[in-house]
Amino acid sequence: MLRFYNTLTAQFEEFKPLNDDKVRMYICGPTVWNFAHIGNFRTFVFGDILRRYLKFKGFNLIHVMNLTDVDDRIISEARKKNITIYEMTAPYIQAFWEDMDALGCQRPDIAPRATEHINEMIDLIKKLLEKGRAYESKGSIYYRIASFPEYGKLSKINLEGNITGASGRIDADKYDKENVRDFALWKFVPEGEEPAWNAPFGRGRPGWHIECSAMSMKYLGESFDIHAGGIDLQFPHHENEIAQSEGATEKPFVKYWLHSEFLKVDGEKMAKSLGNEFTLRDILAKGFPPIAIRYLLLSVPYRNQLNFTFEGLRGAVSTVERLENFKLALRTTKATAGSNPVIKELIEKSLREFEEAMDDDLNTSVALASIHNMIREINTAIANENLREDDRNLALKAIEKFDSVLGIFGKDDEVILDDEIEKLIEERQEARKKRDFARADAIRAYLTEKGIILEDTKDGVRWKRKISLT
Ligand code: AMP
Ligand code: ZN
Repeated sequence: MLRFYNTLTAQFEEFKPLNDDKVRMYICGPTVWNFAHIGNFRTFVFGDILRRYLKFKGFNLIHVMNLTDVDDRIISEARKKNITIYEMTAPYIQAFWEDMDALGCQRPDIAPRATEHINEMIDLIKKLLEKGRAYESKGSIYYRIASFPEYGKLSKINLEGNITGASGRIDADKYDKENVRDFALWKFVPEGEEPAWNAPFGRGRPGWHIECSAMSMKYLGESFDIHAGGIDLQFPHHENEIAQSEGATEKPFVKYWLHSEFLKVDGEKMAKSLGNEFTLRDILAKGFPPIAIRYLLLSVPYRNQLNFTFEGLRGAVSTVERLENFKLALRTTKATAGSNPVIKELIEKSLREFEEAMDDDLNTSVALASIHNMIREINTAIANENLREDDRNLALKAIEKFDSVLGIFGKDDEVILDDEIEKLIEERQEARKKRDFARADAIRAYLTEKGIILEDTKDGVRWKRKISLT
């Protein structure tokens, strides 16, 4: 039974989609004003695991993730550089997808951009105005929180307490609002200033929260199954999305809300504003393979905080090396025909444990422990030349299943088998004896290309495989 911790109900719940035929999921995407940091990618890797596991469980999934390509930070950066917001965001959108690919994150089915859905946002704001849930003030439109008594049901905030608590940092536009908690749906933009769009309620640009309500409902319907994002989005972003969507449709917006915890550095949230961030590019430039970063980010269950250290990352590098080596060893070592019931049972147990752990709110660390346990036992069988053909095939199939969700065993490059390598080495020795150096070099080059490193020692030629980790 697959269960998730639902932030809305504050409990674990069995996952039952609203419709049997399809699971509809929305994950808040990046604000494309800069390169995303690995804290952001912790959330996106979590989204990828969630996506892949729903598919593993046989659900037919539609997965939407927005790109926030208009907001205050984007506008101010574009102004500084004297370019349009489109020129400003284009390279970061491309970089974001490159980084997602490098981290092995599958792309969402639909990735709508805010700037391409302004009409949908305008329609939604119109509805809220008609229902008295929004009001105009000095050309901007605000959401009237007093009109939505359920406000706070997701984040469980105490409205009264929060207002006093926030008094030190009330928005600059506080005097334009009926209540300090009210948030902007549409921000007034004076003539001559860009970017701005014309709406029946005036020239302006959207507030941040409205885009996710408008785009999720456009692609997934007024009520859908899963909405996810980082824990910092729970309040106010997701709380506001609920107020906007349910305030307009009078229907439940989302059944399951999932929030992932922070990646931290020295006990603080990784954030650009704190200057403690590493982009994926920073880390790759230091020579770390992206698959190790993926491993590190997913190795801790998503609702636990994770502290980033380079020591931890180096640990992840040796772990993914071990995983890749194991797969290679399985594929290339000699196995005798038949099956060993102990190994067979071990593999089946590991598959069961993996699924039980992932069913339990995606408990990746328990799932990984079971995989590592299986690997240890099979490695012993390999070392004792005790691996049987049927078990080798079972183990390879199990890895394929684990990896359809986790993506940590490395790419399936075509491997060259031990027998073939040894034959080629012999042939190279023969060629050298006959002083056919061209042939000898060609063989060496071929083996190098296949990732085989030759070492000429006084006891003959030794060889080993180079681990690619791409
Ligand atoms: P942004 O581009 O700022 O809208 O953030 C994109 C996603 O990254 C959001 O879901 C955030 O909640 C998430 N996020 C931001 N910082 C961190 C962090 N340090 N750890 C985990 N997730 C984060
Ligand atoms: Zn959002």
